[in-house]
Amino acid sequence: MKRKEKGRVELERVHTVEAAQNIFTKEEVGIEGDFYPFLVGYHQEEDYTLFLLALKDLDRIYWILAIRKVCAYNRNIRSYFHPAPWNGRKWSCCKKTTKLIDGCQECDSWIPSQTSSPSRDSISESLSNKENFNSSQSSPIMPGGGTPGTPSGKQKDDQSSTTPRSKVVVALYNYKAIETGDLSLEKNMEYEVIDDSQKHWWKVRDSKGMIGFIPSNYVKEKELLGLQQYDWYVNDMSRQRSESLLKHEDKEGCFVVRNSSTKGLYTLSLYTKIPHPHVKHYHIKKNGKGEFFLSEKHCCNSIPELINYHKHNSGGLASRLKTSPCDRPAPATAGLSHDKWEIDHSELMLLDELGSGQFGVVRRGKWRGTTDVAVKMMKEGTMSEDDFIEEAKVMTKLQHPNLVQLYGVCSKNRPIFIVTEYMRHGSLLNYLRRHEQSLSTNQGLLLDMCIQICKGMAYLERHNYIHRDLAARNCLVGTENIVKVADFGLARYVLDDQYTSSGGSKFPIKWAPPEVLNYTRFSSKSDVWAYGVLMWEVFTCGKMPYGRMKNSEVVERVQKGIILEKPKACFKEVYDVMKKCWAPLPENRPSFRILKDTLINVSQGILVD
Ligand code: AMP
Repeated sequence: MKRKEKGRVELERVHTVEAAQNIFTKEEVGIEGDFYPFLVGYHQEEDYTLFLLALKDLDRIYWILAIRKVCAYNRNIRSYFHPAPWNGRKWSCCKKTTKLIDGCQECDSWIPSQTSSPSRDSISESLSNKENFNSSQSSPIMPGGGTPGTPSGKQKDDQSSTTPRSKVVVALYNYKAIETGDLSLEKNMEYEVIDDSQKHWWKVRDSKGMIGFIPSNYVKEKELLGLQQYDWYVNDMSRQRSESLLKHEDKEGCFVVRNSSTKGLYTLSLYTKIPHPHVKHYHIKKNGKGEFFLSEKHCCNSIPELINYHKHNSGGLASRLKTSPCDRPAPATAGLSHDKWEIDHSELMLLDELGSGQFGVVRRGKWRGTTDVAVKMMKEGTMSEDDFIEEAKVMTKLQHPNLVQLYGVCSKNRPIFIVTEYMRHGSLLNYLRRHEQSLSTNQGLLLDMCIQICKGMAYLERHNYIHRDLAARNCLVGTENIVKVADFGLARYVLDDQYTSSGGSKFPIKWAPPEVLNYTRFSSKSDVWAYGVLMWEVFTCGKMPYGRMKNSEVVERVQKGIILEKPKACFKEVYDVMKKCWAPLPENRPSFRILKDTLINVSQGILVD
């Protein structure tokens, strides 16, 4: 890999562009007049921050917007930053003494508000009306494609703010409109966006002039479509998941292109049966002229051209590229329709029983005969229903590829039903136990599961949403080894004292940190502790933490700072991450955002991409 070069920052590595705190003296910077600092943060093996000075405020804003514009679609954009430098001992801004601690200030928006570069006039106008300038910024881009709402995840409900310019989107999946007011989508067709003021459901117009709501995660802006228009591009799919997918297809020459774990690079994963069925992974490299190649003899101007070339010539690959996996599952929508969270009982067909838990039986179902759902039939008296129903409206709006989507509730009849996305392989705990033999030898897959859960949790953390009962039993596994976090926030509505009080027999003691055991103090950092235990469950393929030890003994151990032992099949580097989650004081535990970056780095270090 290319080392850091002096005097050059690769744009795709930039993750932060912000105005900096002016703590510099004129002597330090050697400038007589006024100056306006700003910073560019980038990651190249480790984090670096470049502090720059503009001589006018207007110039500073121009620089920030211009750099953000060229980096707007980088995949590593951060949500928090430190506005002043690390002085060798502490951060000059927040005075924290841990270098790797989260940034102390929330980043500004990165979504360019217009397609062209910001003009000086528009900036001057913004400057003269600072309030307008701030409000014209959209919310920060989130890795899950979402934008952060208010702390509770509530939406801005301003119907009047329509899209200022005509935005054209392309459908990534088919979508069948069922509810009146919704519009069907046809894969690869274009739609004009009429109103994108709500996060998850946009009003669009199709080529025949029909208008209706569509799920915003089913489309992509035409200008930003990039590789997503190709069936062979699978985005952030990990090496392990691409292998399971291609092996499942079992077709010679079947391939996908995915983002490499090294940011900004891509990997081709190709299935071949010769000499035995296996998947080969090739980095797509770039030469000095910016051309892409798999073997240096065959360079192309773009990745699609390169793929096309290797569809006709194996050119050194194990096989010619032939097909890509078809019918990849479409993501869940935030609710079953625009602004819908109350679901009509009569529209649900209940099928086989999937299992039963704290609240009662869970059954597979079909909504309006088409959409697969899971239906949790709440045992009466197990939860404070009215409070939960209120909360459900908010929870349907939480949307991330690694969170089980809440579609809505049937609250008009009793028992109430909680209707969620259906996950075909059921609970992660049972999945780990059922597949122990194959999983225990595939640490890459286990680590990938942990990273997926961490991504879902980082999303909850960003929305100030605390899970309170994170454990392998509360995660679910879907097709293509997708793992998602379920039941977030539900613990607050449980009425059973045995579950809610730390002395109760059903309280998840073995997943609880000292501050929860002592003062029932839940936070995202108590979720981090539980996440460490969950990682341990994953790497032991579903063993019970602390074995048969009684709860009282576990509490004693945790209070004394005795932690779970390293699972046998677990790299030291992975166990080191678990240990970070079990720091006795919550403030010394990393956030999920930092954990996610750390785990991705660990996986890069110990596994081949
Ligand atoms: P719970 O009440 O959430 O503990 O669920 C009990 C069991 O039902 C779980 O262990 C799963 O096996 C199954 N289950 C719950 N939710 C789903 C879902 N969304 N999709 C598939 N199976 C589920």
